[in-house]
Amino acid sequence: MAMRYLELVGVTKRYGDTLAVDAVDLAILKNRYVCVLGPSGCGKSSLLRMLAGHEIVSSGDIVLSGRNITDVPPARRGTAMMFQNYALFPHLSVRDNVAFPLKMRGAEKTERYREADALLARVHLEAYAERKPAQLSGGQQQRVALARAMITRPQILLLDEPLSALDPFLRVKIRSELKELQRDLGISFLHVTHSQDEALALADLVVVMNGGRVEQAAPPREVFNRPSSEFVARFIGGHNIHSGARGTVAVRSDRVRLSDEPDGALSGVIGDLEFLGTRVSVRVNTRDGDFTVELADGDFFAAPYDLGQSVSLSWDPEDAHPLLA
Ligand code: ADP
Repeated sequence: MAMRYLELVGVTKRYGDTLAVDAVDLAILKNRYVCVLGPSGCGKSSLLRMLAGHEIVSSGDIVLSGRNITDVPPARRGTAMMFQNYALFPHLSVRDNVAFPLKMRGAEKTERYREADALLARVHLEAYAERKPAQLSGGQQQRVALARAMITRPQILLLDEPLSALDPFLRVKIRSELKELQRDLGISFLHVTHSQDEALALADLVVVMNGGRVEQAAPPREVFNRPSSEFVARFIGGHNIHSGARGTVAVRSDRVRLSDEPDGALSGVIGDLEFLGTRVSVRVNTRDGDFTVELADGDFFAAPYDLGQSVSLSWDPEDAHPLLA
């Protein structure tokens, strides 16, 4: 059986009257990529800051590798944090930036530089050791920040929106580098994001938060195919929510069939068409609200629909996933 590695028990954060994190229970295994996902204000950063020891826990416990670290200072809890803006020291070289946490611990210069150079090699930046951060690209600065976070050999790396400062192209590239590095290091990463795509692409475990609580914690395919609630289905996207005789269900946009025969479960009028490259997204206005239907581009263009055309919608019963309110 895989070992529980990081365990949160009833972890709660209050700021005065605001309940930011509400009794979160969560178990994370070793060597996992975990993405904490949720809208702004759902408590993601508060949770991350408590894990890092940058925020006092109002109640509950945080246990890492069998050690209760709830009240242990940041540098001694076995966690490391990588910040969104990288927080590199502009006047220090790349090597000195990476070696800095070891300097704080009183390590000898030769040891500091040996460790820093080994980590720089790992993130493919050995040729840049003498440069200052301003002489690097955004992606390279991020790798320096990663190397610096890793130098204390943390048992878990905490990443606060690590890709949000990058342009879309670089974001996808660095995303795969992060995943590769996590596999390579064999420790767990806990990555906070508000991007559904990022969480689905990266995570072994997606933790969806809403209003300070964990709404669902499951592998990405399960979160996508079996969202536990209407909130998760709406937030993850790619689903239509439909309330019918059998309660409320989520139906994936690519599982809804369109027809110009009036034989489906629902009828409506085409309100919008968006070409997405490999797919076409069709919005249908029905009496029960808007539906989004995604068709493969080949299927759509073999028999295209027009704006304003009357259509009917149907889906297989097994594609209607029941939702709790
Ligand atoms: P997220 O990272 O998901 O956007 P946060 O953890 O930053 O969420 O915030 C959760 C809630 O706690 C929000 O209502 C926010 O306004 C409140 N909050 C966060 N930090 C503080 C603080 N230092 N003082 C008071 N309220 C805060």
